[in-house]
Amino acid sequence: MDRPVWAPESVDMDRASPARMYDALLGGSHNFEVDRQAAAYGRQLVPDLPRLALSNRAFLRRAVRFMIDAGIRQFLDIGSGIPAAGNVHEVAQEIDPSVRVLYVDIDPVAVTHAATILQGNERAGALEADLRKPDDLLARAREPGLIDFDQPIGVLLVAVLHLLQDEERPRDMVAALRAAVPAGSYVAISHVTSALRPDDAARLGEKATSGIGIRFRDRAAITEMFDGLAMVEPGVVELPLWRPESERDHHETPGRSLGLAGVGHKV
Ligand code: SAM
Repeated sequence: MDRPVWAPESVDMDRASPARMYDALLGGSHNFEVDRQAAAYGRQLVPDLPRLALSNRAFLRRAVRFMIDAGIRQFLDIGSGIPAAGNVHEVAQEIDPSVRVLYVDIDPVAVTHAATILQGNERAGALEADLRKPDDLLARAREPGLIDFDQPIGVLLVAVLHLLQDEERPRDMVAALRAAVPAGSYVAISHVTSALRPDDAARLGEKATSGIGIRFRDRAAITEMFDGLAMVEPGVVELPLWRPESERDHHETPGRSLGLAGVGHKV
């Protein structure tokens, strides 16, 4: 296959990436055969897997709207992924065009595509950086001048922390970000879980994602990631149960979600 314009030279087209596999699950077009195969295998094991992706995107939209209502006017979206319907800047700038958004991802396809669609938007940008190196990420996030670290920030860690292994200490990564943002900031986290469907979680964790390494964590481990933050109601809950706005948000059946989510407030 010829290299498409959206795939920089550094991208290995024979190896699945979490960003492109997720894009394939959402029906996007920035993925390769190897990503589509990984997504198809996941669907074979757990047929409602695409619903998890939709449910997660719906949580992202609601969390952004919640933060805007709470007065947040700038977002740091880490592990932002390949742009898809309902991107943070679209949701936020529709409500208030002055909102600023910095997308951060480790995947060059995600960052290149984000930078392309953001051309001409002075209030949004994209940065390639690694959440596992929070000091470097934060230093570089300050550079474009888009995010003012003296004003409250909406930090989005949506469907990314489960891509960090236990030894990479995801909880410490959240703590480093929490320490860097001012009081009044919010942190949204969603994370795949073994809490409700342990058998499906084990199947997906071990097989479908081999080579990618997704960690399905239990409720306690996900809740601990919010240490030091005041939980916004209703706390850490299944994805479709976090402040649903309409029936459209019920992509997954409550009681059977493969993801937990919550929003914490730095007070
Ligand atoms: N946040 C988006 C959403 O929820 O729709 C995309 C989620 S996607 C499943 C996870 C993203 O995290 C991928 O784009 C992947 O490249 C990115 N990612 C994985 N590890 C990362 C790391 N160490 N630092 C930054 N981004 C990372």
